[in-house]
Amino acid sequence: MAELPEIFKLAGQMRDTLCGKTIQSITLLQEKCANIPPDEFQNRVTNARIMDIRNKGKWIITELHNGENILLSLGMGADVLYFNNEKKQADKYQVKVIFSDGSGYTIRFWWFGKYMLVSDDELASEPNIKDIGIDPFDERFTLDYFSSLMKGKKTQIKSFLMNQKNVSGIGNMYMHDILFKARLHPKKKISDMNDDEIKLLYTSITDVLNLSLEKGTFAYESDFFGKKGGYTMDYFLVGYKENQPCPVCGDTIVSIKTGSTTSYICPTCQKL
Ligand SMILES: [Zn+2]
Repeated sequence: MAELPEIFKLAGQMRDTLCGKTIQSITLLQEKCANIPPDEFQNRVTNARIMDIRNKGKWIITELHNGENILLSLGMGADVLYFNNEKKQADKYQVKVIFSDGSGYTIRFWWFGKYMLVSDDELASEPNIKDIGIDPFDERFTLDYFSSLMKGKKTQIKSFLMNQKNVSGIGNMYMHDILFKARLHPKKKISDMNDDEIKLLYTSITDVLNLSLEKGTFAYESDFFGKKGGYTMDYFLVGYKENQPCPVCGDTIVSIKTGSTTSYICPTCQKL
């Protein structure tokens, strides 16, 4: 499942490739991924020029010159693939966008995704994105900001970080190693954490996500040009490494239930 590094990379590639292009047509084969009927979608974006593409947490927002915005959520994952000629087009897709220069992209959702159209006026109040918190690649995500966010909270640390309203972009996949590097049990209460632990958690978040980005993001996800990332399972420290030795102390890594998610932890390094 795509998390912040994958989304950040994809949004950047889309921005670099698509800005300035004019939409000629959009085909929506899965109507329930959209918020409006395909005809209306088509009418409101035809001949619109792409001004900017950016991510907000795990959403990708395409800003058009005519006051409209396309909101994309990959859901459980999706292949978003660019093409610059007829032959290279993917044949399986739910969404296809064609630009006036003949290039375009297709989206194939693995499960359910979202592809919505929202005007500038509605953007700030759009229910799916209005409460999304600042993500760790945002320059506003400083240690002071992160500390202030945690102040007075009694929540368990993992569920706090999974909540996209607090910090956006982190999902279950990178969480295991983030908490391991911070030596925190997923069920540790924020109110029981001291300043050093908060600081170590902050650097663990940025270290783990930055390493993935540096290695080209998760190896099972394709980028806008169909290229797989270089962040293979070898880079994971404890995530998905059940019954293997902890890289720090050698104790056996276990998986535990944490609410609706599974967590991989070292029981010695991450005591509750
Ligand atoms: Zn250990």
